[in-house]
Amino acid sequence: MIRRTLETLSFDNTYARLPQAFYARLNPTPFSAPPHLVHANPAAAELIKLDPEQCARPEFAALFGGSALAPGMEPLAMLYSGHQFGVYVPQLGDGRAILLGEATNGRGERWDLHLKGAGMTPFSRDGDGRAVLRSTIREYLCCAAMQGLGIATTQALCLVGSDDKVYREQIETGAMLVRMAPSHVRFGSFEIFYYRKQHEHVRALADYVIEQHFPHLREVGDKYARFFGEVVERTAKLIAQWQAVGWAHGVMNTDNMSILGLTLDYGPFGFMDDYDPGFICNHSDHNGRYAFDQQPYIGLWNLSCLAQALLPLAEKEVLKAGLDTYTPRFEREYLQRMRAKLGFAEEKPEDDDLIRDFLGLLQGSHADYTIVFRELGTFSTAEGASNDRLREHFLNPDRFDGWAVRYRERLRNECSRDDERCDRMNRVNPQYVLRNYLAQTAIEKAQHKDFSEIDRLFTLLQDPFTDQPGMEAYALPPPNWGKHLSVSCSS
Ligand code: AMP
Ligand code: MG
Repeated sequence: MIRRTLETLSFDNTYARLPQAFYARLNPTPFSAPPHLVHANPAAAELIKLDPEQCARPEFAALFGGSALAPGMEPLAMLYSGHQFGVYVPQLGDGRAILLGEATNGRGERWDLHLKGAGMTPFSRDGDGRAVLRSTIREYLCCAAMQGLGIATTQALCLVGSDDKVYREQIETGAMLVRMAPSHVRFGSFEIFYYRKQHEHVRALADYVIEQHFPHLREVGDKYARFFGEVVERTAKLIAQWQAVGWAHGVMNTDNMSILGLTLDYGPFGFMDDYDPGFICNHSDHNGRYAFDQQPYIGLWNLSCLAQALLPLAEKEVLKAGLDTYTPRFEREYLQRMRAKLGFAEEKPEDDDLIRDFLGLLQGSHADYTIVFRELGTFSTAEGASNDRLREHFLNPDRFDGWAVRYRERLRNECSRDDERCDRMNRVNPQYVLRNYLAQTAIEKAQHKDFSEIDRLFTLLQDPFTDQPGMEAYALPPPNWGKHLSVSCSS
């Protein structure tokens, strides 16, 4: 058996075979202080056929802290543009991230390794090319959390810190995060060539993406329209998952929308504590464009930008038809997830109302979204059961009682068994989510070089549906200081 060492990591870079207009070649700029490993993700290491024990080697921190390269990497910054807060920005691109190359794992998979915080690139505009420890910890942990929740996401291989100072609202230290995904192509990767009227590049990119990631469409006659249809489907499903788990992205600009329907570019994201449909997690989003309840609509808006960029490749009517599948698809996916959260095994016409009314009760009571859904699993349909622990979450218990009568009736109609339903619900209603304050605690410790809380949360969030002994405090609502932490785009 070949020993899987760092030296046997194998790299290619198919993106570097695309026309030069697609990227700028350059190497990462190392920190001046030596890099140190903050945390590494063993499961992600396995995906690129790397023995997790190798992550502890200083060579690993050097390679993924921007101070060394491996053969075959061909690092480059990808070019893209995008609509930011509804306004088209003609050029963005990787301003602080570098696509190191694609790790091939011998199982036919290729994983882009993207080094975030790797220094200035030709696309840095006014930025310094760096990322701070604070924001990379948030991204690192949230990738693990999303993965644990079964939500499509880019993954994080490792987090490498440095003592170099980075200037934000205050002085912080820098870090680099290795992000892994089958592709980092964004909606904005298409938009840039469409608006530059370089339609041959729009085609080249679509052909590349289909070849690499939608191989079943290679030989299809209307492949571009079908490709778009699949992106619509994946996006609808992704956003339905976000809505069901109570998560807001915070900066759903088209340059942050993955062509593969992955959660991409973690910034001021947030899991909701109290249920509030108007929840704005991004402190800089003054108009609430990216508020929680706007996300489904923004998904559609962003897809319409992508459709526009694909106009050189497919008939407008066909793209429009693809776009029209978004809302019904989203609604179906969302309803399916919410039914599961309420423990319904069958579909009934009254489900929509029961779900909406339950959310209304949560909102009126400022009840914690994650906790109450988990508690709902304990609902007893027995005659005369008062369901006191659940009832306590509601400011107006009479209104809850009214709803509970309907809920009980609905469950009895499908002969739901309490124990069996509770098991099912516990597999979709997480016990643990990455609340802002939990991330904040890990950040504050890490700023003093104590990475134990990162490790604890990382392990916990990989399995968010199972009660873990000794971890009860992590399932509680936030303490007062952690309720309304402000998180902005500054990262
Ligand atoms: P984001 O809001 O993180 O998606 O970033 C939007 C754009 O700004 C992308 O082109 C980023 O590469 C760029 N950017 C963000 N932060 C920095 C930074 N510190 N230095 C250079 N470019 C940055
Ligand atoms: Mg971005």
